[in-house]
Amino acid sequence: MINKLKRTLTSLLPVEEGRTGECNNCGACCRLPFRCVFLKTTTDEDNEQKEYCSIYTVRPPNCRKFPRSPEEHNLVKDTCGFNFSEASEKSSTKKFIKIFPKS
Ligand code: SF4
Repeated sequence: MINKLKRTLTSLLPVEEGRTGECNNCGACCRLPFRCVFLKTTTDEDNEQKEYCSIYTVRPPNCRKFPRSPEEHNLVKDTCGFNFSEASEKSSTKKFIKIFPKS
């Protein structure tokens, strides 16, 4: 749940440098940390179940920009179609520590 709060609070920041790739519609980010209420299921002409975002055109920034940082990407890196370069991952960690210092 803390990751969800961080994503919401930082969602107006720009996408960090070093991101490559594209969304493959795996849907992993729609389940962080639980299934989004706007994620709907339908059946296609081959009777296969497909999921879709029912508010896609007006989805909030934290969905629109996901993964905005390497830290966000680490939550879904097994299936997500995006990637971050190793250099940007190290850089992102340093920035994150500055914004949210450990207590
Ligand atoms: S986890 Fe990545 S590839 Fe999967 S739906 Fe989200 S942005 Fe797209």
